[in-house]
Amino acid sequence: FDMFVLAFVERLFRSTYKKDDIVLGKKLGEGSFGSVYRVSLAKKTSSKGGDLVLKRATEYGAVEIWMNERVRRACANSCADFLYGFLESSSKKGAEYWLLWRFEGKATLADLMQSREFPYNVEALILGEVQDLPKGLDRENRIIQTIMGQLLFALDGLHSTGIVHRDIKPQNIIFSEGSRTFKIIDLGAAADLRVGINYIPKEFLLDPRYAAPEQYIMSTQTPSAPSAPVATALSPVLWQLNLPDRFDIYSVGLIFLQMAFPGLRSDNSLIQFNRQLKRCDYDLVSWRQTVEPRAGPELRKGFELLDLDGGIGWELLTSMVRFKARQRISAKTALAHPYFGREGLLALSFIQ
Ligand code: ADP
Ligand code: MG
Repeated sequence: FDMFVLAFVERLFRSTYKKDDIVLGKKLGEGSFGSVYRVSLAKKTSSKGGDLVLKRATEYGAVEIWMNERVRRACANSCADFLYGFLESSSKKGAEYWLLWRFEGKATLADLMQSREFPYNVEALILGEVQDLPKGLDRENRIIQTIMGQLLFALDGLHSTGIVHRDIKPQNIIFSEGSRTFKIIDLGAAADLRVGINYIPKEFLLDPRYAAPEQYIMSTQTPSAPSAPVATALSPVLWQLNLPDRFDIYSVGLIFLQMAFPGLRSDNSLIQFNRQLKRCDYDLVSWRQTVEPRAGPELRKGFELLDLDGGIGWELLTSMVRFKARQRISAKTALAHPYFGREGLLALSFIQ
């Protein structure tokens, strides 16, 4: 009841926006379900300055508004700062959902990982300056640790709220220049399993590059997913049985892998890796046994990085990228993994 009152009061005093307040800027993205623009507010309405991001969404817009509203209240720091969402019916193309966020920054993790400077370009962003230290594996490992810590922290927030993202990939992780941390974006494919908003038509295409081997989040013992958003009571017991959050853990494990291995950062090499891993029955240890003997310098460097500190990074990676969802580590447990030892936790604590 308290939560309801709070939400109501919050809505009363929150700024709302309409189409005429918004001035379109550069297009940032174009997906199959909508387009994303950088926008600003028309002068008379802008009490708070700063650029915003607008998504004009079709089918999945209602779900995305629902998810963002929930995140705002339950785990605001996990995702881009959501301002407002509404149904805009005067558009020529028919009804669209318009969603507004604060513009968090120019770069996604995908942009940053494409640079030859990665991960040092991220160190500069997080610290606001480049450290005057020699480059080397230890330093790279520290930066990757910090990024992984931030990603798992954000994911733990979502999962503790009962939300599974289902489209975790570097393109959906934005570097927030204000808070100097990575935040998750694009909740268009997310599922809220506690309330039963579980919007996956069977034909919904998950991004095959980052998707865990299980196609659907709920196992076959669960009634099949509804084809429209409906409220069904899904008990926490079901969540426990199926561990749907582990779908995201697999994806974030692949991001960890790409950060460690420069040679696996391109789309093509990731697709090739996925094929190799499938041939190894999704067993990273046997993948390592097949590729390591004839590994080039880039692969060798990745193994070296993960083998630091007694192979604690490799241990964490192999506990995320596993075939069986129930054998994958949770975000919360991963945050307490020895990989984020004293120094890792220090790096995280200055961020919060
Ligand atoms: P899509 O459905 O097109 O994938 P996204 O929500 O992922 O939509 O947004 C598309 C792109 O827009 C992102 O990859 C990112 O570059 C940019 N973007 C989205 N939200 C923000 C934000 N809050 N701040 C800055 N850039 C954003
Ligand atoms: Mg996206």
